[in-house]
Amino acid sequence: MSLMYVSTRNANEKVTASQAILKGLADKGGLFVPTEIPKLDVSFDKLKNMSYQETAYEVMKLLLTDFTEEELKNCINRAYDDKFDTEEIAPLTKADGAYFLELFHGATIAFKDMALSILPHLMITSARKNNVKNDIVILTATSGDTGKAALAGFADVEGTKIIVFYPKGGVSPIQEKQMVTQKGDNTHVIGINGNFDEAQTGVKKMFTNEALAKELSSKGYQFSSANSINIGRLVPQIVYYVYSYAKLLENEEIKDGESINIVVPTGNFGNILAAFYAKNMGLPVKKLICASNENKVLFDFFESGVYDKNREFKLTSSPSMDILISSNLERLIYRIAGEDAEKNSALMQSLISEGKYEITDEMKSKLGDFYGNWCSEEETAETIKSIYEDTGYIIDTHTAVAAGVYRKYRKETGDDTKTVIASTASPFKFTRSVMTAIDPSYDSKGDFELVDELSRIGNVEVPNAIEEIRTAPVRHNTVVDTADMEKAVKAFLEI
Ligand SMILES: *Cc1c(COP(=O)(O)O)cnc(C)c1O
Repeated sequence: MSLMYVSTRNANEKVTASQAILKGLADKGGLFVPTEIPKLDVSFDKLKNMSYQETAYEVMKLLLTDFTEEELKNCINRAYDDKFDTEEIAPLTKADGAYFLELFHGATIAFKDMALSILPHLMITSARKNNVKNDIVILTATSGDTGKAALAGFADVEGTKIIVFYPKGGVSPIQEKQMVTQKGDNTHVIGINGNFDEAQTGVKKMFTNEALAKELSSKGYQFSSANSINIGRLVPQIVYYVYSYAKLLENEEIKDGESINIVVPTGNFGNILAAFYAKNMGLPVKKLICASNENKVLFDFFESGVYDKNREFKLTSSPSMDILISSNLERLIYRIAGEDAEKNSALMQSLISEGKYEITDEMKSKLGDFYGNWCSEEETAETIKSIYEDTGYIIDTHTAVAAGVYRKYRKETGDDTKTVIASTASPFKFTRSVMTAIDPSYDSKGDFELVDELSRIGNVEVPNAIEEIRTAPVRHNTVVDTADMEKAVKAFLEI
């Protein structure tokens, strides 16, 4: 039986999984959601002996039903290989009364690799299945992390090209170095004289420019998006929650059927939504704990039922969570609205016109799976420092927001259910913030000095992703004005 995907804003727009992956966003700005959430059809007694790749197949086959077994296994094996620096792909580390699920062992040492290493393969397989002959051109605007993870995922994948725009001067020096040294003949990185919003606006303009689409098509190209609202990113993220439960079982940390809590440092609401889907597929989960930084729009939403983005935007030490519009929350809103596309559309319209919306009491009563809280900058730094001092384990700033929120949750509720914390980035990616949290005097040192010092005091090897950029030659040095973004795309595609 084939599982279909429907738009959160139009009950009549139904597509297959492969069409949803190719399309990315539904018409009128809707997001694709599965018409039902399938149940896992293999026992944890079996899952506990499976590899990450085998687990991925058991989960993804239920959600991407128009892929054949061979197609799906092929995508999985190409994605989860020695690009990851650990055999387990997503290992668990026990510390501070919880299990840290390390999702940062891929090519760019952040959790976005978990999905972006398989998305290119899902996308070209989808193109083939739907008789798309054009090459796929991925167009992305990035504030740092997504761009590099997408570049690494799509580099040298046949039938694709990828163009990433970033705000020149608006990303960290390590992030910029990671991008401009990117290898692969099909990759192109362009700095713009402008901020992230301007980069994003320029990209959106190209996506909706019909004349440009026609011109591209006549030359054998079409645009697609690697944005986190693509279900091809969401589905692979469900896998590691199932995998972590199976490993806890295998290691006899929990009993079969025992419930766990999951804590997720949250920005766009993609990662925690994947955990919610895992729960609905049958994973025994008690609470989904949503951790925010000072941009605590989600905490306020879970408290009051009002989502309100009208507030000051704060720059924090966990920049990948500096978000005021959590796009993937729409999928949860749609669900608690009784899968009513009209109701959901009205709320999203209110978000566009007034910057806020309020859910009904009935909808609010369906949020019992979730607990929200947040950490200030001081609390985040304090969490890094105290976990390091107590256990020797060094976590990054995003993970620290989650660990700090988990401490608050424990104190508030007394709940001692075994808990998995999604560890979303390597501390080496945010070295300066991490090291100055441990000792402010580190701030006088250079970036790579800090890398070596982190390696020494944490007793962990410097990851390849960092080693590489110490000496890698710059391959991309194009910088353009925002008005010339389209020209730059055409130049790269030679059209
Ligand atoms: C993107 C990102 C997040 C936020 O994940 P969402 O799915 O957007 O909620 C958290 N931590 C890191 C390191 C990230 O890169």
